Amino acid sequence: MLKTTSYDSLLICGGRIIDPFTGRDEIADIAVVEGLIAQAPTNDTHVIDATGWIVCPGLMDIHVHLREPGQTHKETIETGTAAAVAGGFTFVACMPNTRPPLDHPDAIRSVLERARNAGHCQVGPIAAITKGRSGNTITDFSVLLDTGAVALSDDGDGVEDDSVMRAAFESAREVSAVLIQHCEYKAISAGGVMHLGDVSCRCGFPGLNPRSEEAMIERDIGLCRDTGSRYHVAHISTARAVELVRRAKAEGSPVTAEVCTHHLVLTDEACVEGDPNTKIHPPLRPRTDVEECRRGLLDGTIDCIVTDHAPHTVDEKAAGFLRAPPGIVGLETAVGLAAQAMIESGLADWPQLVAWFTTGPAAVLNRPPRPIEVGARADLSLLSPKARWTVDPQRFVSRGRNTPFSGWELTGKAIGTVQGPQVAVSSRAGLKSSQQPAEDSR
Ligand SMILES: [Zn+2]
Repeated sequence: MLKTTSYDSLLICGGRIIDPFTGRDEIADIAVVEGLIAQAPTNDTHVIDATGWIVCPGLMDIHVHLREPGQTHKETIETGTAAAVAGGFTFVACMPNTRPPLDHPDAIRSVLERARNAGHCQVGPIAAITKGRSGNTITDFSVLLDTGAVALSDDGDGVEDDSVMRAAFESAREVSAVLIQHCEYKAISAGGVMHLGDVSCRCGFPGLNPRSEEAMIERDIGLCRDTGSRYHVAHISTARAVELVRRAKAEGSPVTAEVCTHHLVLTDEACVEGDPNTKIHPPLRPRTDVEECRRGLLDGTIDCIVTDHAPHTVDEKAAGFLRAPPGIVGLETAVGLAAQAMIESGLADWPQLVAWFTTGPAAVLNRPPRPIEVGARADLSLLSPKARWTVDPQRFVSRGRNTPFSGWELTGKAIGTVQGPQVAVSSRAGLKSSQQPAEDSR
């Protein structure tokens, strides 16, 4: 459950301020008066004891599936954005593979209105590249962006037809739009339910050829080079794909990429037992790919971390590994998993991790910086880097329970967010404040 309280005056005391927008990293207090960051609180202020916590700009996840309209049995804009806040996110970009898809300005308007009514966090709808996500005819990018779409993607499917994708690049250039590609040629991936390799051969599940991802990235990088239009690789997952993006960036092409938390922590070995919650598209990859994705983050080839939050019902996942729909929920485990992959491994530190969830995604979507500065609207995440906790899907705020991380012990979690005058915390987070005594590390 998510608990939201509004305060006219708020003092967040003793936290470590990490602001990748300015490079600030220090222990300090932050006052929020009437929703704006202020020099000092007013006399009658609410105090949050943030000792031992990180206070940073609100985290962003630019790849989530909110399932509304059309599949509200899996998730709604209300439950999905509440789950986002419980995971420390104040902005999510939602994918257009809803029913009907987000290929029309009315659909974009409707998502924005529902998100506003829910009031949990900001939502940036991603509009479809092609009408009906059918891959045949491009949508009207200009109208969709004017209505509030933040980027374009047919996620769930790649745009396979060369001439359609070229038209998309040309149209995107005219309106400075970002094209986000789910890279998969179905002719190559057809029938596969997990990564094609030693492990799939051993356990007998049909393998999905990684070339289906890499070949589309290769084609798109060529189109990107030709047109000079912005291109973003969704959920990059193979070492070769990372190398393709690395080279394209070195050549100066306007290419960016994201990696999912699960592709940083799990390998295809996780699929051996046939747990449908390890069935994901793109699939979990071998260790060498996981390591290259981590390296890609560290050297700047990969710009940000996302969840690809993909809720499904218990019944749908009960169909078994071969038949269950791919995807897992991720919003509420993102911080802990990313910390395990990148910090506990000794590869990175918290300022770097926070950047992969703030400045990184903001740059990908060309959104304005949100530094923690006096006069700015409060848009903050509260993280507890040392909290040890056990993943319990039954306690997720999300409607989805489909996670392979049930029972995992993680270190580092989101406590909640401060947005304007509103402080939102997950009921299990253990908010320390003047009114609620400390119970941080539960
Ligand atoms: Zn996808």
